[in-house]
Amino acid sequence: MSQTRRHLEHHPGINPAPFKATIESITDEGVILSDSWCYPKGGGQPGDTGIFQSDGEEFRFGEVSASSHILHPVSSGNLQVGQEVDCVIDVERRNALASMHSAAHILSATANERWGAITVGNQLGVTESRMDLKFENRDEFDANILQDDANHWVNKDAEIMIHEWGRKQIMTDDRVRNRRFVERIIDRIGGSDPRLRMVEIEGIDLCPCAGTHLSSTSPIGDITIGRVQNKGKGTFRIYFEI
Ligand SMILES: [Zn+2]
Repeated sequence: MSQTRRHLEHHPGINPAPFKATIESITDEGVILSDSWCYPKGGGQPGDTGIFQSDGEEFRFGEVSASSHILHPVSSGNLQVGQEVDCVIDVERRNALASMHSAAHILSATANERWGAITVGNQLGVTESRMDLKFENRDEFDANILQDDANHWVNKDAEIMIHEWGRKQIMTDDRVRNRRFVERIIDRIGGSDPRLRMVEIEGIDLCPCAGTHLSSTSPIGDITIGRVQNKGKGTFRIYFEI
């Protein structure tokens, strides 16, 4: 059975509290805990890092990932199955990535709003992130306009909310962007009443997302667009900082 991704219950996804858990197994790839609130890398967002504390010892873990279970890569061999640990997530890194992630939503939505651009890829970083935007007519794109549009929504301090919605609610809401794509995600989940975690930024964005976010937009601070690279096929790769 796949492990529950507890980070999904956490909104805003900042300042994650330390938690206690028991080591369930240790594999070549990492430590699996009885329960984990760590964000596993995915969707362009890097995973959490942090420290296990146990009996006065500390064990740093690297970037958390997930397949069927959430893996915490630890190099030290002193941990034992059954051992209880305090897991302390690197808060500064998580908060920076939640801010970057929230900024990415705004950029993606405003580029779609103004030019009908579709976000076809993104990779977030603590200090710099990038996003690939595919345009119908790439010549219309102007990085300064995108930056101004995005900062308009930052300055509005729009609320960021999480919803658990079913197919009907999602597919009948005109604010949901790229609904054909969203429907494919719903189909993939399957079952009689699949639910999706929808992220809403009041007035500008509504889309499915499993990442970590702020509770409103103003703490993101100024979004600055840097390099813009031509990726061919109507696509630009834009780099941004906050
Ligand atoms: Zn998101």
